[in-house]
Amino acid sequence: MDRRKFIASLIACPVCASTARAEGAAPHWEYEGEHGATKWGDMDSKFKACAVGAEQSPIDLTAAIRANVDRLAINWKPQAYDIVNNGHTIQANVKDGGSLTIGKTAYELKQFHFHTPSEHAFGGKRTAMEVHFVHAAADGRLAVVGVLMAAGKTHKGFASIMQAAPKKEGEAKLKATLDPRSFLPKGRDFYRYEGSLTTPPCSEVVDWNVFGTTIDVGTADIDAFKALFPMNARPLQALNRRFLLKGL
Ligand SMILES: [Zn+2]
Repeated sequence: MDRRKFIASLIACPVCASTARAEGAAPHWEYEGEHGATKWGDMDSKFKACAVGAEQSPIDLTAAIRANVDRLAINWKPQAYDIVNNGHTIQANVKDGGSLTIGKTAYELKQFHFHTPSEHAFGGKRTAMEVHFVHAAADGRLAVVGVLMAAGKTHKGFASIMQAAPKKEGEAKLKATLDPRSFLPKGRDFYRYEGSLTTPPCSEVVDWNVFGTTIDVGTADIDAFKALFPMNARPLQALNRRFLLKGL
């Protein structure tokens, strides 16, 4: 298996942490303290990109260049997802969950998961949360669609995910079908750049697409997430020599 396919299989895997342990692959990492985000690159040779990579994520989205970029053709399917607490986040695993097409490249939706606060920022400011929809193409290349979430009106889908979410590492099933498109904002302007996974091994294989408009989620549901994961956002990374594009 080549590196990109291996990474894609880790992303898609419902029991990533235990698979990684079984293969003797990944050391334990956290966001703060001894195993925190500023230490990831030194923890394991496989995590080197976290320290020395020049195309890392997340980034601040302020300095964007307006461009005529390929739009996102999103074709996600509603389903009753398996909701996993993997020790780092709450994640919905997707089976035959539809596709994302950018230009001529088709990606399959594998999973979506949440961070608090948001990982991407505008002018250094982060919002309460961010959701990442992770897609993989046949060649192993990844495309992530990010939506920043702010405290406001209750979002029924997010509320149902937090109701089902296991309090400890484990898996549960949503009681009802959820339409993931309910997480898409009304405004469709978005930012595109070439970046990385925001968790170890920080591999630089991700086409990032982050919407410029936030969606509302309920404060009680944000608090429920924070009770499980008080902080699971990586610090902002330098843009370096990359182009940050803004499309409509
Ligand atoms: Zn993420």
